[in-house]
Amino acid sequence: MSQLEYLPNSDASPLTGRYRGRFAPSPTGPLHLGSLAAAMAGWLDARAHQGEWLVRIEDIDPPREVAGATENILATLTDFGFEWSGEVMVQSQRGAAYQAAFDRLEQAGWLYPCACTRKEISDSITASTTTSNAAVYPGTCRSGLPEGRPPRAWRMRVAHTNDSGNVIRFDDRHFGPQQQNLTTEVGDYVLKRADGFWAYQLAVVVDDAEQGITDVVRGSDLLDSTPRQIHLQRALGLPTPRYLHVPVVETKLGEKLSKQTGAKALDRKHPLAELRLAAQHLGLEAFGATSITQFWSQATASWQKRNVKY
Ligand code: GLU
Repeated sequence: MSQLEYLPNSDASPLTGRYRGRFAPSPTGPLHLGSLAAAMAGWLDARAHQGEWLVRIEDIDPPREVAGATENILATLTDFGFEWSGEVMVQSQRGAAYQAAFDRLEQAGWLYPCACTRKEISDSITASTTTSNAAVYPGTCRSGLPEGRPPRAWRMRVAHTNDSGNVIRFDDRHFGPQQQNLTTEVGDYVLKRADGFWAYQLAVVVDDAEQGITDVVRGSDLLDSTPRQIHLQRALGLPTPRYLHVPVVETKLGEKLSKQTGAKALDRKHPLAELRLAAQHLGLEAFGATSITQFWSQATASWQKRNVKY
């Protein structure tokens, strides 16, 4: 395999421009306290930097989508006093952009088709004595599809021999210096799924670049996706935004609050009470507010004091 170089960051790095953040919910159900905390952190950070805040609906996973969730999420954001700039980007309308990025990666030799089923992958991992991390793809199809097997998914090579992209490092504004060895901790990852849908990692990277996002603020459950996103940005010659992951809201059992762990939908009749709870989770002082407008100005001042480093 020939050495592939990462493309340099594009000259028009948005990091030199005005702050642009985003909130990117998946329409898998109504917003809950955990999603509110992530949205709040993002909007406060944008406000504190006099920046813009965009909303993007990540509806690229139809099997997980819930009918009406997009409208419900946008109406909830409005009820809670959030204001976003411009049109809402909708990922289900962005197929051509994902295909173009995919084609560039394929032409540059980064991608290969994979015939493995989930069961084959888990069987080969169990049988392997060299791999300790059960989630790492063992690379079965990396040098070609097995005889007579049709392609299912498409995977992105995490590294080539002596490829310095192997270990990805970045500084998270909350969690500090991070690093992940993509070869030993992740393995070649899926960009196009066996069911034909685009993978989150590809869509998020293409859209963050398209929207000129300078700052990604989101829940810490996505901290370990970030190195894959940086890897893709480098392979595509796209700029890397700054990252700030905020601790996720947990259930009493210490699990991430989500639909699967029984998160309740936000109470749209009592936005102030819900906003106060989310602010409390983020460690902000905005408890005395008696209106939504007052809440947002107190919370912005509190965020500015704690979280904005110029
Ligand atoms: N759509 C993802 C989610 O709802 C968030 C993606 C992101 O913020 O990068 O979990």
